Amino acid sequence: MKVHNFNAGPSILPNEVLYKASKALIDFEGSGMSILEIGHRTPLFQAVLDEARDLVKELMQLEDDFEVLYLHGGATTQFMQIPLNLLENDGTASYIDTGVWSNKAIKEAKQYGFVDVAGSSKDSNYNHIPKQFSVSPKSTYLHITTNNTIYGTQWQKMPETDVPLIADMSSDILSRSLDFNKFTLIYAGAQKNMGAAGTTLVIVRKSALGKVTRKIPTILDYRNHIENGSMLNTPPVFAIYISMLTLRWLKEQGGAAAMEIENEKKAGLLYNEIDQNPLFRGTAQKEDRSRMNVSFIMDKPELEEEFLKFCKKEDIVGIKGHRLVGGFRASLYNALPYESVEVLVEAMKYFSLKKA
Ligand code: PLP
Repeated sequence: MKVHNFNAGPSILPNEVLYKASKALIDFEGSGMSILEIGHRTPLFQAVLDEARDLVKELMQLEDDFEVLYLHGGATTQFMQIPLNLLENDGTASYIDTGVWSNKAIKEAKQYGFVDVAGSSKDSNYNHIPKQFSVSPKSTYLHITTNNTIYGTQWQKMPETDVPLIADMSSDILSRSLDFNKFTLIYAGAQKNMGAAGTTLVIVRKSALGKVTRKIPTILDYRNHIENGSMLNTPPVFAIYISMLTLRWLKEQGGAAAMEIENEKKAGLLYNEIDQNPLFRGTAQKEDRSRMNVSFIMDKPELEEEFLKFCKKEDIVGIKGHRLVGGFRASLYNALPYESVEVLVEAMKYFSLKKA
């Protein structure tokens, strides 16, 4: 039996995906080889990569100027690769500081140009999304983290800006309807909402590239990956295959719009319990609450360990909060069933009554 997996990432995958992948590990599409054994330059794998790319274009309804890449290195590599490719040495990029992950992006960008921190919620331990910020019109781009995995905050409305918009969507990609064409570059590690660890989705407008004068190492130049169709070197075959299967599943469910409805239902159920249960309290400001990562604490921290143990007995795993926020964090990614949230809510109710 599967447990109720609320881990923040890597996290839950649809059962259909796991089942199909387990078969492919033994014999991929009747080839007599495992998916781990096939050559990446075979028509068999090319078909997987093409489908994974096309599904992203379709599910995000991307304009033709976008290239879809599946790269190595995690979202963390993108913190460096974006300014390396886009930001001139004497140029300025604006970043909104909404926590640990945006800070890591800021730190890398500073190695390549000037960084203007246009807004920050640091003073309140990142419990909200900054509402007041001004972006210099001279900025090469504005970078945001659409969902802040650690603090449980999420941009509900994308910022209006005249400069190109770049987003780290690692923890909410394809979890809601968005106008993805508002962006110049979007990136996301696949391991939360669209696959397994090992590949990173990068969507970039071709017209934004080739403008910096610095020399870019071959493997880090987006243009080389575009020219080579994400096969500049051996791609992470298995991880891309899992993404393709997950995207197929996502399409069958009705795409991002259907995910949004489901994710709102799941998050609504849990936030409702947090708001009415006297034992628990949400940490993020209500208007910025994330539908992906729900962070909450107890007014009696001495009961935390006991609650975690109780959850474990109920097959609820992965809800210990990040050390920077404490308490609990339940991650409700696309593949997490509504029933898992019901089980968690029941556990909260029962535990609270027992302790009353
Ligand atoms: N950005 C966000 C918002 C994240 O949540 C994470 C990881 O949890 C990362 C970036 C880092 O991703 P990776 O481990 O793929 O480098």
